[in-house]
Amino acid sequence: MALAVYASDPSRSRGRRFPEPPAPTRSEYQRDRDRIVHSTAFRRLVYKTQVFINHEGDLFRTRLTHSLEVAQLGRSIARTLGLNEDLVEAIALAHDLGHTPFGHAGQDALHDCMAAHGGFEHNLQSLRVVDRLEQRYADFDGLNLSFETREGILKRCSKTNAIELEAIEPGGVGSRFLNGTQPSLEAQLCNLADEIAYNAHDIDDGVRSGLLSLDQLDEVALFSQFKHAALAAHPGLAKQKGRRLLFEAIRRMLSQQVYDVIAATREALDRCDPRSADEARGQGPLIRFSEPMRQASVELKRFLFGGLYRHPQVMQMTDQAKRVVKDLFSAYLAAPQEMSSDFAAEENRPRAVSDYIAGMTDRFAIREHERLTGQRLF
Ligand code: MG
Repeated sequence: MALAVYASDPSRSRGRRFPEPPAPTRSEYQRDRDRIVHSTAFRRLVYKTQVFINHEGDLFRTRLTHSLEVAQLGRSIARTLGLNEDLVEAIALAHDLGHTPFGHAGQDALHDCMAAHGGFEHNLQSLRVVDRLEQRYADFDGLNLSFETREGILKRCSKTNAIELEAIEPGGVGSRFLNGTQPSLEAQLCNLADEIAYNAHDIDDGVRSGLLSLDQLDEVALFSQFKHAALAAHPGLAKQKGRRLLFEAIRRMLSQQVYDVIAATREALDRCDPRSADEARGQGPLIRFSEPMRQASVELKRFLFGGLYRHPQVMQMTDQAKRVVKDLFSAYLAAPQEMSSDFAAEENRPRAVSDYIAGMTDRFAIREHERLTGQRLF
Protein backbone atom coordinates (compact mmCIF):
# COMPACT_ATOMS: atom_id res chain seq x y z
CA MET A 1 0.00 0.00 0.00
CA ALA A 2 1.35 3.42 -0.97
CA LEU A 3 1.81 5.99 1.77
CA ALA A 4 -0.85 8.69 1.90
CA VAL A 5 0.26 12.33 1.58
CA TYR A 6 -0.46 12.87 5.29
CA ALA A 7 1.64 9.85 6.38
CA SER A 8 5.09 10.17 7.96
CA ASP A 9 7.67 9.57 5.26
CA PRO A 10 10.97 8.19 6.61
CA SER A 11 12.94 9.90 3.85
CA ARG A 12 11.65 13.25 5.19
CA SER A 13 12.28 12.47 8.85
CA ARG A 14 13.36 15.33 11.10
CA GLY A 15 16.27 13.05 11.90
CA ARG A 16 18.19 11.81 14.92
CA ARG A 17 19.80 13.84 17.69
CA PHE A 18 23.18 12.43 16.67
CA PRO A 19 23.34 12.24 12.86
CA GLU A 20 24.05 8.78 11.47
CA PRO A 21 24.45 7.58 7.89
CA PRO A 22 21.32 5.86 6.55
CA ALA A 23 21.07 2.07 6.81
CA PRO A 24 21.59 0.29 3.47
CA THR A 25 18.41 -1.82 3.52
CA ARG A 26 16.07 -0.37 6.14
CA SER A 27 14.08 2.85 6.46
CA GLU A 28 14.67 5.11 9.48
CA TYR A 29 11.53 3.84 11.22
CA GLN A 30 12.34 0.18 10.57
CA ARG A 31 15.68 0.87 12.12
CA ASP A 32 14.05 2.50 15.16
CA ARG A 33 11.76 -0.52 15.57
CA ASP A 34 14.77 -2.87 15.41
CA ARG A 35 16.69 -0.86 18.01
CA ILE A 36 13.70 -0.98 20.35
CA VAL A 37 13.26 -4.75 19.97
CA HIS A 38 16.95 -5.31 20.80
CA SER A 39 16.93 -3.02 23.85
CA THR A 40 17.19 -4.24 27.44
CA ALA A 41 14.13 -2.26 28.50
CA PHE A 42 12.05 -4.07 25.89
CA ARG A 43 12.97 -7.50 27.27
CA ARG A 44 12.03 -6.37 30.76
CA LEU A 45 8.45 -5.69 29.63
CA VAL A 46 7.78 -9.42 29.77
CA TYR A 47 8.04 -9.37 33.57
CA LYS A 48 6.16 -6.16 34.20
CA THR A 49 2.57 -5.96 35.35
CA GLN A 50 -0.20 -4.68 33.15
CA VAL A 51 -3.02 -5.14 35.70
CA PHE A 52 -2.18 -8.46 37.33
CA ILE A 53 1.19 -9.06 38.88
CA ASN A 54 3.31 -11.30 36.75
CA HIS A 55 3.42 -14.19 39.24
CA GLU A 56 -0.39 -14.33 39.66
CA GLY A 57 -0.73 -16.38 36.50
CA ASP A 58 1.04 -17.26 33.28
CA LEU A 59 -1.79 -16.25 30.97
CA PHE A 60 -2.42 -12.65 31.98
CA ARG A 61 -1.17 -9.83 29.82
CA THR A 62 2.17 -8.36 30.65
CA ARG A 63 3.48 -5.06 29.35
CA LEU A 64 5.16 -6.99 26.55
CA THR A 65 2.11 -8.82 25.23
CA HIS A 66 0.09 -5.62 25.68
CA SER A 67 2.63 -3.73 23.54
CA LEU A 68 2.46 -6.43 20.85
CA GLU A 69 -1.33 -6.18 20.79
CA VAL A 70 -1.12 -2.40 20.43
CA ALA A 71 1.32 -2.87 17.54
CA GLN A 72 -1.00 -5.38 15.86
CA LEU A 73 -4.08 -3.15 16.10
CA GLY A 74 -2.12 -0.05 15.13
CA ARG A 75 -0.51 -1.61 12.08
CA SER A 76 -3.75 -3.05 10.87
CA ILE A 77 -5.44 0.37 10.98
CA ALA A 78 -2.35 2.13 9.59
CA ARG A 79 -2.25 -0.09 6.52
CA THR A 80 -5.86 0.67 5.65
CA LEU A 81 -5.39 4.42 6.10
CA GLY A 82 -2.10 4.59 4.17
CA LEU A 83 -0.12 5.55 7.28
CA ASN A 84 3.40 4.39 8.01
CA GLU A 85 3.19 0.92 9.57
CA ASP A 86 6.84 0.81 10.61
CA LEU A 87 6.54 4.04 12.57
CA VAL A 88 3.33 2.81 14.22
CA GLU A 89 5.06 -0.42 15.18
CA ALA A 90 8.12 1.37 16.59
CA ILE A 91 5.99 3.70 18.72
CA ALA A 92 3.69 0.88 19.91
CA LEU A 93 6.56 -1.35 20.96
CA ALA A 94 8.25 1.50 22.83
CA HIS A 95 5.22 3.26 24.32
CA ASP A 96 5.38 1.49 27.70
CA LEU A 97 9.17 1.17 28.12
CA GLY A 98 9.12 3.69 30.97
CA HIS A 99 6.60 1.85 33.08
CA THR A 100 7.58 0.96 36.62
CA PRO A 101 7.06 -2.54 38.02
CA PHE A 102 3.51 -3.22 39.34
CA GLY A 103 1.63 -1.13 36.79
CA HIS A 104 -0.05 2.09 37.84
CA ALA A 105 0.39 1.34 41.53
CA GLY A 106 4.16 1.39 41.06
CA GLN A 107 4.01 4.61 39.09
CA ASP A 108 1.84 6.39 41.68
CA ALA A 109 4.16 5.32 44.49
CA LEU A 110 7.27 6.46 42.62
CA HIS A 111 5.62 9.77 41.78
CA ASP A 112 4.94 10.31 45.50
CA CYS A 113 8.55 9.46 46.36
CA MET A 114 9.79 11.92 43.73
CA ALA A 115 7.34 14.72 44.66
CA ALA A 116 10.11 17.01 45.90
CA HIS A 117 12.47 16.09 43.04
CA GLY A 118 10.46 16.76 39.90
CA GLY A 119 8.02 13.83 40.12
CA PHE A 120 7.79 10.70 38.01
CA GLU A 121 5.79 10.41 34.81
CA HIS A 122 5.86 7.19 32.80
CA ASN A 123 5.61 8.77 29.32
CA LEU A 124 8.54 11.02 30.06
CA GLN A 125 10.35 8.01 31.51
CA SER A 126 9.80 6.05 28.26
CA LEU A 127 11.51 8.91 26.43
CA ARG A 128 14.29 8.92 29.03
CA VAL A 129 14.84 5.19 28.45
CA VAL A 130 15.31 5.60 24.69
CA ASP A 131 17.19 8.92 24.95
CA ARG A 132 19.49 8.16 27.85
CA LEU A 133 19.16 5.06 29.97
CA GLU A 134 19.84 2.43 27.32
CA GLN A 135 23.60 2.21 26.98
CA ARG A 136 24.54 0.21 23.91
CA TYR A 137 26.34 2.60 21.59
CA ALA A 138 29.91 3.89 21.76
CA ASP A 139 29.03 7.38 20.51
CA PHE A 140 25.93 8.29 22.47
CA ASP A 141 23.64 7.38 25.33
CA GLY A 142 20.24 5.93 24.46
CA LEU A 143 19.07 4.49 21.15
CA ASN A 144 19.27 7.71 19.13
CA LEU A 145 15.82 7.21 17.63
CA SER A 146 14.32 9.46 14.99
CA PHE A 147 12.28 12.50 15.97
CA GLU A 148 8.97 10.96 14.87
CA THR A 149 9.38 7.86 17.05
CA ARG A 150 10.41 9.95 20.07
CA GLU A 151 7.49 12.32 19.46
CA GLY A 152 5.10 9.36 19.52
CA ILE A 153 6.62 7.90 22.67
CA LEU A 154 6.02 11.15 24.54
CA LYS A 155 2.26 10.76 24.56
CA ARG A 156 1.66 13.14 27.46
CA CYS A 157 3.85 15.68 29.19
CA SER A 158 3.21 18.29 31.88
CA LYS A 159 3.88 21.93 31.00
CA THR A 160 6.75 22.10 33.51
CA ASN A 161 8.46 19.09 31.95
CA ALA A 162 7.77 20.37 28.43
CA ILE A 163 9.51 23.66 29.28
CA GLU A 164 12.52 21.70 30.53
CA LEU A 165 12.61 19.56 27.38
CA GLU A 166 12.31 22.67 25.23
CA ALA A 167 15.32 24.21 26.94
CA ILE A 168 17.48 21.17 26.13
CA GLU A 169 16.03 20.58 22.66
CA PRO A 170 14.50 23.77 21.20
CA GLY A 171 11.65 22.99 18.79
CA GLY A 172 11.90 19.31 19.77
CA VAL A 173 9.51 16.77 21.21
CA GLY A 174 8.39 19.05 24.07
CA SER A 175 7.19 21.88 21.79
CA ARG A 176 3.76 20.54 20.97
CA PHE A 177 2.75 20.58 24.64
CA LEU A 178 3.50 24.31 24.67
CA ASN A 179 2.08 25.32 21.29
CA GLY A 180 -0.97 23.02 21.29
CA THR A 181 -0.27 21.08 18.09
CA GLN A 182 -0.74 17.31 17.65
CA PRO A 183 1.81 14.57 17.10
CA SER A 184 1.93 12.67 13.78
CA LEU A 185 -1.12 10.66 12.73
CA GLU A 186 0.89 7.49 13.45
CA ALA A 187 1.39 8.65 17.04
CA GLN A 188 -2.28 9.56 17.39
CA LEU A 189 -3.15 6.12 16.10
CA CYS A 190 -0.97 4.41 18.72
CA ASN A 191 -2.79 6.26 21.50
CA LEU A 192 -6.14 5.00 20.29
CA ALA A 193 -4.84 1.47 19.61
CA ASP A 194 -3.50 1.44 23.18
CA GLU A 195 -6.98 2.21 24.51
CA ILE A 196 -8.69 -0.37 22.25
CA ALA A 197 -6.15 -3.02 23.28
CA TYR A 198 -6.36 -2.57 27.04
CA ASN A 199 -10.15 -2.24 27.13
CA ALA A 200 -10.43 -5.59 25.36
CA HIS A 201 -7.66 -7.50 27.10
CA ASP A 202 -8.60 -6.27 30.55
CA ILE A 203 -12.07 -7.78 30.04
CA ASP A 204 -10.39 -11.07 29.11
CA ASP A 205 -7.94 -10.98 32.03
CA GLY A 206 -10.67 -9.80 34.41
CA VAL A 207 -12.86 -12.78 33.56
CA ARG A 208 -9.86 -15.14 33.60
CA SER A 209 -8.98 -13.99 37.10
CA GLY A 210 -12.54 -14.57 38.31
CA LEU A 211 -12.87 -10.92 39.39
CA LEU A 212 -15.33 -10.13 36.58
CA SER A 213 -18.22 -12.29 35.35
CA LEU A 214 -19.90 -12.43 31.98
CA ASP A 215 -23.20 -11.48 33.65
CA GLN A 216 -21.64 -8.39 35.16
CA LEU A 217 -20.33 -7.45 31.72
CA ASP A 218 -23.92 -7.30 30.47
CA GLU A 219 -24.05 -3.87 32.13
CA VAL A 220 -21.68 -2.62 29.45
CA ALA A 221 -23.52 -1.87 26.21
CA LEU A 222 -20.44 -2.26 23.99
CA PHE A 223 -19.71 -5.74 25.30
CA SER A 224 -23.23 -7.09 25.72
CA GLN A 225 -24.14 -6.11 22.16
CA PHE A 226 -21.37 -8.36 20.81
CA LYS A 227 -22.04 -11.10 23.33
CA HIS A 228 -25.59 -11.27 22.00
CA ALA A 229 -24.35 -11.17 18.41
CA ALA A 230 -22.06 -14.13 19.17
CA LEU A 231 -24.92 -16.04 20.81
CA ALA A 232 -27.20 -15.35 17.85
CA ALA A 233 -24.56 -16.75 15.48
CA HIS A 234 -23.70 -19.70 17.75
CA PRO A 235 -26.64 -20.51 20.08
CA GLY A 236 -24.75 -23.56 21.40
CA LEU A 237 -22.26 -21.26 23.15
CA ALA A 238 -24.88 -20.38 25.81
CA LYS A 239 -24.72 -23.85 27.34
CA GLN A 240 -21.01 -24.41 26.86
CA LYS A 241 -18.68 -23.90 29.72
CA GLY A 242 -15.38 -22.38 28.79
CA ARG A 243 -14.27 -19.20 27.24
CA ARG A 244 -15.37 -19.37 23.63
CA LEU A 245 -18.32 -17.04 24.17
CA LEU A 246 -16.03 -14.47 25.78
CA PHE A 247 -13.54 -14.66 22.91
CA GLU A 248 -16.25 -14.54 20.26
CA ALA A 249 -17.65 -11.38 21.91
CA ILE A 250 -14.26 -9.72 22.35
CA ARG A 251 -13.11 -10.35 18.79
CA ARG A 252 -16.33 -8.85 17.42
CA MET A 253 -15.90 -5.86 19.70
CA LEU A 254 -12.29 -5.37 18.58
CA SER A 255 -13.16 -5.58 14.89
CA GLN A 256 -16.02 -3.13 15.27
CA GLN A 257 -13.80 -0.62 17.05
CA VAL A 258 -11.17 -0.92 14.35
CA TYR A 259 -13.75 -0.39 11.58
CA ASP A 260 -15.19 2.53 13.51
CA VAL A 261 -11.80 4.25 13.82
CA ILE A 262 -11.13 3.73 10.12
CA ALA A 263 -14.50 5.18 9.06
CA ALA A 264 -14.48 8.12 11.49
CA THR A 265 -10.86 8.97 10.67
CA ARG A 266 -11.45 8.82 6.90
CA GLU A 267 -14.30 11.26 7.35
CA ALA A 268 -12.10 13.62 9.39
CA LEU A 269 -9.28 13.34 6.84
CA ASP A 270 -11.65 14.04 3.97
CA ARG A 271 -13.00 17.08 5.73
CA CYS A 272 -9.65 18.57 6.80
CA ASP A 273 -7.69 17.35 3.78
CA PRO A 274 -4.15 17.61 5.22
CA ARG A 275 -1.61 17.68 2.38
CA SER A 276 1.36 16.58 4.48
CA ALA A 277 2.26 15.03 7.84
CA ASP A 278 3.03 18.51 9.19
CA GLU A 279 -0.30 19.92 8.03
CA ALA A 280 -2.01 17.06 9.87
CA ARG A 281 -0.13 18.02 13.07
CA GLY A 282 -1.79 21.44 12.95
CA GLN A 283 -5.37 20.17 12.65
CA GLY A 284 -6.42 18.81 16.03
CA PRO A 285 -6.71 15.07 16.64
CA LEU A 286 -7.78 13.42 13.38
CA ILE A 287 -7.46 9.75 14.38
CA ARG A 288 -10.65 9.14 16.27
CA PHE A 289 -13.69 7.08 17.15
CA SER A 290 -17.14 8.13 15.97
CA GLU A 291 -18.98 9.96 18.77
CA PRO A 292 -21.21 6.96 19.71
CA MET A 293 -18.17 4.63 19.83
CA ARG A 294 -16.23 7.16 21.90
CA GLN A 295 -19.05 7.23 24.43
CA ALA A 296 -19.34 3.43 24.46
CA SER A 297 -15.60 3.17 25.05
CA VAL A 298 -15.77 5.66 27.93
CA GLU A 299 -18.55 3.59 29.48
CA LEU A 300 -16.48 0.41 29.21
CA LYS A 301 -13.49 2.17 30.72
CA ARG A 302 -15.61 3.39 33.61
CA PHE A 303 -16.88 -0.14 34.20
CA LEU A 304 -13.36 -1.59 34.21
CA PHE A 305 -12.21 1.12 36.58
CA GLY A 306 -14.85 0.35 39.18
CA GLY A 307 -15.20 -3.39 38.62
CA LEU A 308 -11.60 -4.42 38.04
CA TYR A 309 -8.95 -1.77 38.75
CA ARG A 310 -10.67 -0.88 42.05
CA HIS A 311 -11.60 -4.47 42.94
CA PRO A 312 -10.63 -5.18 46.59
CA GLN A 313 -8.30 -7.98 45.51
CA VAL A 314 -6.52 -5.76 42.99
CA MET A 315 -6.40 -2.96 45.58
CA GLN A 316 -4.74 -5.22 48.10
CA MET A 317 -2.05 -6.06 45.56
CA THR A 318 -1.81 -2.34 44.77
CA ASP A 319 -1.16 -1.44 48.41
CA GLN A 320 1.59 -4.03 48.72
CA ALA A 321 3.16 -2.90 45.47
CA LYS A 322 3.21 0.72 46.65
CA ARG A 323 4.86 -0.36 49.85
CA VAL A 324 7.59 -2.24 47.94
CA VAL A 325 8.36 0.81 45.78
CA LYS A 326 8.38 3.24 48.74
CA ASP A 327 10.58 0.96 50.87
CA LEU A 328 13.01 0.47 48.00
CA PHE A 329 13.16 4.21 47.38
CA SER A 330 14.14 5.03 50.97
CA ALA A 331 16.56 2.10 51.16
CA TYR A 332 18.52 3.13 48.03
CA LEU A 333 18.40 6.82 48.89
CA ALA A 334 20.08 6.03 52.22
CA ALA A 335 22.46 3.44 50.77
CA PRO A 336 23.06 4.09 47.04
CA GLN A 337 25.79 1.42 46.98
CA GLU A 338 22.98 -1.15 47.13
CA MET A 339 22.09 -0.21 43.53
CA SER A 340 24.10 -1.38 40.54
CA SER A 341 27.24 0.70 40.12
CA ASP A 342 26.09 2.86 37.15
CA PHE A 343 23.20 4.18 39.20
CA ALA A 344 25.14 4.46 42.47
CA ALA A 345 27.65 6.76 40.78
CA GLU A 346 25.03 9.25 39.50
CA GLU A 347 25.13 12.76 40.93
CA ASN A 348 21.37 13.37 41.15
CA ARG A 349 20.66 10.63 43.65
CA PRO A 350 16.83 10.78 43.82
CA ARG A 351 16.61 10.66 40.01
CA ALA A 352 19.10 7.77 39.85
CA VAL A 353 17.07 5.84 42.44
CA SER A 354 13.90 6.57 40.49
CA ASP A 355 15.51 5.38 37.22
CA TYR A 356 16.79 2.24 38.92
CA ILE A 357 13.42 1.33 40.43
CA ALA A 358 11.48 2.24 37.27
CA GLY A 359 13.63 -0.17 35.27
CA MET A 360 12.91 -3.13 37.55
CA THR A 361 10.71 -6.07 36.69
CA ASP A 362 8.06 -7.04 39.25
CA ARG A 363 10.00 -10.04 40.48
CA PHE A 364 13.32 -8.22 40.76
CA ALA A 365 11.63 -5.51 42.83
CA ILE A 366 10.08 -8.14 45.10
CA ARG A 367 13.45 -9.88 45.54
CA GLU A 368 15.28 -6.63 46.22
CA HIS A 369 12.64 -5.65 48.74
CA GLU A 370 13.10 -8.92 50.57
CA ARG A 371 16.89 -8.58 50.49
CA LEU A 372 16.87 -5.03 51.84
CA THR A 373 14.03 -5.20 54.37
CA GLY A 374 13.86 -8.91 55.27
CA GLN A 375 10.10 -8.82 54.57
CA ARG A 376 8.26 -10.94 52.07
CA LEU A 377 5.18 -9.10 50.90
CA PHE A 378 3.90 -11.22 48.02
MG1 MG B 1 -0.10 0.94 26.95
